[in-house]
Amino acid sequence: MLRGIRCPLLYFFFLCFLYPYAGLSNAQESNGPRNVILFIGDGMGLAQIYAAYTVNKGNLNIMKFPYTGFSKTSSASGYITDSGAGATAISCGKKTFNGAIGMDSDSIPCKTILEYAEDNGLSTGLIATSAITHATPASFIAHQKSRDRYEDIALDFLKTDIDVFIGGGGLYFTNRSDSADLVKQMRANGYDVFLYPSSIHLENSSKAAVFTAPDHNPRLSEGRGNMLPDATEKAIEFLHKNKKGFFLMVEGSQIDWGCHNNDIRYAVEEVTDMDNAIGKALAFAEQDGNTLVVVTADHETGGLSILNGDMNAGTVDAKFSTLGHTGIMVPVFAYGPGAQNFTGIYENTSIFDKLMSFYNFTETWESLPQSK
Ligand code: MG
Ligand code: ZN
Repeated sequence: MLRGIRCPLLYFFFLCFLYPYAGLSNAQESNGPRNVILFIGDGMGLAQIYAAYTVNKGNLNIMKFPYTGFSKTSSASGYITDSGAGATAISCGKKTFNGAIGMDSDSIPCKTILEYAEDNGLSTGLIATSAITHATPASFIAHQKSRDRYEDIALDFLKTDIDVFIGGGGLYFTNRSDSADLVKQMRANGYDVFLYPSSIHLENSSKAAVFTAPDHNPRLSEGRGNMLPDATEKAIEFLHKNKKGFFLMVEGSQIDWGCHNNDIRYAVEEVTDMDNAIGKALAFAEQDGNTLVVVTADHETGGLSILNGDMNAGTVDAKFSTLGHTGIMVPVFAYGPGAQNFTGIYENTSIFDKLMSFYNFTETWESLPQSK
């Protein structure tokens, strides 16, 4: 009698609680995320993050991520990477020489995660607070031996089908030494091109290039305003229209510059600004359920340490040890489907490998247009 009652109860318990739970986690593993939003804080190490956390009195979106890991950043040419090799490791999954943009260590162009996303019918976007032709965003879309070739990098944008990009650098498309008018060509290719608008509007565009400054954007406290969080929110809204999914890379470019200047106020402002953009992405991802958000850095800059701080007053006593980059591992934060795979310690190239497998993209060896 007792046994007869107990068994159906157990069965009921399994059906109601355990079975749906098992089904949910299986579905997540096999499907992966539909959308990926990748944040790169240029030069953003643990100390930069903790300094911003302290100055913001314990409020920082980055601290909410459930999964964390560490990325080893050395390049093919050195213990210390630059931003070109650092971003190419993430965009292509290949260690390369310092200064390279979307090229492997033999100077062969390598296909980037953004280009794979394009080829698989996803929508794609790039956002930066530097010129959009600067090393980090360039490494996702261009293929050049040297990061200094801004005009050639600008030309490479026209060889792709990127759906939206927002950042500085308009003059590399308009005031060129070869007199080519790339804005005109982009418009002929179906882009709405916005030169230095006061606010970002993508509602009526099918493809859009938004130049927020002729060269680099000013730093936050010198007039950039809410550009990065705003651009992130608008780009997500824009890219989300594609039911196949999207890939978006957002760079907090000037964290690195604050640290090269050994200016803690500059660095903290820029981390905080990127963190506000991360807040926009997390709000979307929480509601969407199919979006993976990853936050990392290409390397640490400045060899920053925190010697003291006051969480209530929002003050830090921070010291830099160099004007350059350092070789220390950088943190990786992840939220959403697939996020648990970012725990552990791995090479920066492994971020590319993980994204490729979540998206279910197959690596191909077709040659990309060879650069001069
Ligand atoms: Mg950069
Ligand atoms: Zn740097």
